[in-house]
Amino acid sequence: MKKVSIVGGGIIGLCSAYYLAKEGYEVIIFDQSEMSDGCSYGNAGMIVPSHIIPLAQPGMIAQGIKWMFDSQSPFYVKPRLNSDLIKWGLQFYKHANAKHVEKAMPALRDLSLLSKELYQDFAKENDSFFYEEKGLLMLYKTEKVAEDIFHEAKEAQRLGLEVDYLSAAEVTKLEKGTKTNVLGGVHYKSDAHLYPQKFLDFIKQELKRLNVEIHPATNVQDFVFDHNKITKIVTSKGTFATDEVVLAAGSWSPVLAKKTGISISILPGKGYSFTLKDKNHKPSIPSILCEGKVAVTPMNTDIRFGGTMEITHTGDTKINQNRLQGIVNSINEFYPDMEVEMPEAQDTWLGFRPCTPSGMPVITRAKKVVNLTFATGHAMMGLSLAPATGKIIEEIISGKTLSVNTKMFQL
Ligand SMILES: Cc1cc2nc3c(=O)[nH]c(=O)nc-3n(C[C@H](O)[C@H](O)[C@H](O)COP(=O)(O)OP(=O)(O)OC[C@H]3O[C@@H](n4cnc5c(N)ncnc54)[C@H](O)[C@@H]3O)c2cc1C
Repeated sequence: MKKVSIVGGGIIGLCSAYYLAKEGYEVIIFDQSEMSDGCSYGNAGMIVPSHIIPLAQPGMIAQGIKWMFDSQSPFYVKPRLNSDLIKWGLQFYKHANAKHVEKAMPALRDLSLLSKELYQDFAKENDSFFYEEKGLLMLYKTEKVAEDIFHEAKEAQRLGLEVDYLSAAEVTKLEKGTKTNVLGGVHYKSDAHLYPQKFLDFIKQELKRLNVEIHPATNVQDFVFDHNKITKIVTSKGTFATDEVVLAAGSWSPVLAKKTGISISILPGKGYSFTLKDKNHKPSIPSILCEGKVAVTPMNTDIRFGGTMEITHTGDTKINQNRLQGIVNSINEFYPDMEVEMPEAQDTWLGFRPCTPSGMPVITRAKKVVNLTFATGHAMMGLSLAPATGKIIEEIISGKTLSVNTKMFQL
């Protein structure tokens, strides 16, 4: 059987490895990190068929510019005179229109729903990662934000997703244990959530069982070619022969793609999270606090808060205290009794979401390199879309009929 090398051991790389190994491929994963703390670990753990509207959407440019001048805002582009950023910005502008959104929505819905089904299969096998189907509450405090939330909810309903519109009293009734200060909410019944670290532990166990070779702390530096085919992967720990390569390097994908002569536009969207342990009084349903774009996820006895999107570069590992304060303020405004304090620096996690300018992931065979496949650019939905992405990667490499239409996920 063919040997498939996967560059990147985040959730996308691990799920790709799982479906490939299950089909009998010899799979080897390389990751430059210790594979314990990257973007796939500290995220909000939401599985979101509700998220059918990509970041590149009408109105986003104007909103983004307004947020640029607010130091606590949830979205920020770090201004730099950099050709990658300029190219990304122009592409984002090109995609932020109704026509793109109309094509993106069914594609994202189908990929998401497939992923959820696959998560259900995993959860049937093992419940160690606290998979739950409680939906997602979009909570709002102002009429203006409610308008946008209703618009999105109507689109979701038009595409067949189940949605409930809730008054403030109905939100209170649902969240019995926690006082909420909201104008209302929209409850997406389709959504689910899990504890990311625990899921990654589970999938790594599965990979061990399937004899997948994992090489942490191994930096992929280059590729050796025979014409338009990669024959070897050059790493910090030696050179490895390969038949196929899957590039699943998240925010670092462009650097590696460039070494194969392919240009791919992805910038890191830095975000933060912190987790309160053994919290008794906490919301029971995952929520997004819409004005501040803060994600709130109960994970077993813990609760995780996540937010902010700073378009930056992978060297920018500074925690911006103002934006973190913005997250904390939102939590206390929406849940007045929780009295959440600013987390210490060592308790604050940061991750780089791999953001494409179109807001669509890239799940496709490379055109110029015959044995290279991309699985990257999942931005704020990588956890949600990982199993479906992994399954499709296996289908692409095996030359099978694909489970969903991937036209929107091409380069
Ligand atoms: C605050 C926050 C909240 C989020 N919440 C959610 C959520 O609720 N639901 C959801 O679906 N998504 C969420 N996300 C997004 C999600 O975490 C990402 O989309 C996902 O983790 C991306 O996975 P990945 O495998 O593509 O990338 P990564 O997890 O970044 O993995 C890429 C890997 O490639 C490795 N790599 C890079 N270069 C090299 C190299 N040269 N050699 C070897 N290895 C290399 C890196 O070390 C890394 O481990 C959130 C993100 C943030 C920041």
